[in-house]
Amino acid sequence: MLIPVVTTIQEIRAAVADARRCGKTVGFVPTMGALHEGHAALVRAAHARSGFVVVSIFVNPTQFGPNEDFGKYPRTLATDQQVCADAGADLIFAPIPTEMYPEASVTFVEVSGLTDVLCGPARPGHFRGVCTVVLKLFNIVGPDVAHFGAKDYQQARIVRQMVRDLNVPVEVRVEPTVREADGLALSSRNRYLNADHRAAAAGIYRALQATQSRATTGERDVVRLEAMLHTDLATIPGVRVEYARILDADTLRPLTQLDRPAVAAVAVSLGGTRLIDNVIIGQ
Ligand code: AMP
Repeated sequence: MLIPVVTTIQEIRAAVADARRCGKTVGFVPTMGALHEGHAALVRAAHARSGFVVVSIFVNPTQFGPNEDFGKYPRTLATDQQVCADAGADLIFAPIPTEMYPEASVTFVEVSGLTDVLCGPARPGHFRGVCTVVLKLFNIVGPDVAHFGAKDYQQARIVRQMVRDLNVPVEVRVEPTVREADGLALSSRNRYLNADHRAAAAGIYRALQATQSRATTGERDVVRLEAMLHTDLATIPGVRVEYARILDADTLRPLTQLDRPAVAAVAVSLGGTRLIDNVIIGQ
């Protein structure tokens, strides 16, 4: 059975209020659609914890740069509806851009520090767009728990910070990255890859796993670990490495010794498609 799709703020607020009147807690999974098994896992996690699960599907214009793929980002609402229903969602909120951003909208949310590393420099304004839309969605939906994927590690860390700093009454949970059989992290953008680049993309996770095993077997020097990660990534055919960093998992600041949990995070481009991934090491 398919689940309802609502498009206005008024409708979603009314539906959530009904659920609350029935004594249900509200779980929330914000997405940009083109849903895959990674998103489905978030919905299942939400369904396991909350009596009423809302999935938002909104390709948020304010988080795309002028030369990014906003126009061609895949939009697959009919199949998304099925994925949501199968995973246990109760309602989809799929607003049009003017519902989210009426013309007079001039307020944005900016988290400093955590946004000036990793994806921040290559995507100016991206996290401001993400934080603004996520806070708006939290205010519109009013969930008890919101579920994010570890695949977008920096995003999840920044959202947690925003929630803490602005006293947003929502619990943020981060769910593990779902991968293809060869290790490639599922992403709506994987469909842009041609067959050669798709095969090559498995090398991203292999490089991260190699970093993880070097750390596990005693390498503590972060400069060396980063250099080896870079070298491993550079062997992937057709790759352009944007960054390969090992940072403090909490502060996202540089480390010299692996004396605390760290995130090994990478962004690469394969045939013009930008892919990111990460693993936690040193815990
Ligand atoms: P997106 O629609 O790509 O903006 O992602 C919506 C949510 O799904 C974010 O919290 C992502 O981190 C999460 N997500 C995307 N891909 C994966 C994956 N492979 N595994 C787990 N979560 C994911």
